[in-house]
Amino acid sequence: MIPAAFDYVRASSLAQAIDLLRDDPDGTKLLAGGHTLLPALKLRLASPALLIDIGGIAELKGIEISEAGIRIGALTTHAELFASEPLNKELPVFRQAASLIADPQVRNRGTIGGSLANADPAADWPAVVVALKAEIEIAGAHGFRRVAARDFFVDIFSTALAPDEILASIRIPRPKPGMRFIYRKIRHPASGFAVVGIAVGVRLHGGVVAEICIGVTGAANHAFADQHAADFLTGKMLSRDNIDQAAKLLGETTECLSDRYASAEYRANLIRVEIRRALLALSS
Ligand SMILES: Cc1cc2nc3c(=O)[nH]c(=O)nc-3n(C[C@H](O)[C@H](O)[C@H](O)COP(=O)(O)OP(=O)(O)OC[C@H]3O[C@@H](n4cnc5c(N)ncnc54)[C@H](O)[C@@H]3O)c2cc1C
Repeated sequence: MIPAAFDYVRASSLAQAIDLLRDDPDGTKLLAGGHTLLPALKLRLASPALLIDIGGIAELKGIEISEAGIRIGALTTHAELFASEPLNKELPVFRQAASLIADPQVRNRGTIGGSLANADPAADWPAVVVALKAEIEIAGAHGFRRVAARDFFVDIFSTALAPDEILASIRIPRPKPGMRFIYRKIRHPASGFAVVGIAVGVRLHGGVVAEICIGVTGAANHAFADQHAADFLTGKMLSRDNIDQAAKLLGETTECLSDRYASAEYRANLIRVEIRRALLALSS
């Protein structure tokens, strides 16, 4: 449980962190809240030559809400997302999802940027940012670029980030009037991570689904945006029959993981149960 030796630099700006990272992207690791990286170092699952502590970089902090949209800095902790009144007035799903992450110690140190960059297939925020139709803002040597959250997660622990890039912020469009979100998960009893987690955003118009976005985590290699159930529900009432049909579709079309925690069949069943519960909650 002792990490291999590494050099340590506490970066004071994003530009400095990018410069340092560019020198040796494969031999360098960024340190945010450390709640995934430090155990990985201790278990020698990672042995970087250099650790860049990005925890003091002001440009990566803060929650800003404007007419143009919502910007959440990568270093924002789960506890800050839970506590932010302005954010939760707009999007109470942040408080709801943050309250389901681990325990107060992890929530006080773990960051949303670290969680998204790490892309643990069982992490909670990936499903939420997908359902929010967020964009991930990425900083690199050539400036900033944005990737839709639904395209950001590419495989198990793998994202659209290049080794020399830094996740800078999460950009979320202001929710349209009437848009409501929910996040639900079946948590692993020991770790608290999602065996299956479902985030849904729905806007009803005259009782009919005008807009819907469904993000799924825990079930597959990486978080993803469902299209099948969403397409089926668009233009329909959220009736019990339609919800049951959508749940069946989502269960059938997801290529579920099978591991020692849950078989693929069990995960498919959890998907059906959780999407049904989420949609029923949003239907009233
Ligand atoms: C006991 C325990 C229980 C947990 N339970 C849950 C849970 O129920 N649900 C859940 O979702 N999560 C859970 N987590 C994970 C936790 O929520 C952290 O968010 C997560 O570990 C990563 O965030 P961090 O800030 O600690 O990142 P770090 O550990 O510092 O970094 C993680 C990885 O991301 C990279 N990285 C960090 N920030 C950036 C950035 N801005 N740009 C590019 N790369 C970056 C690092 O280099 C590293 O590879 C749990 C963790 C622990 C220890």
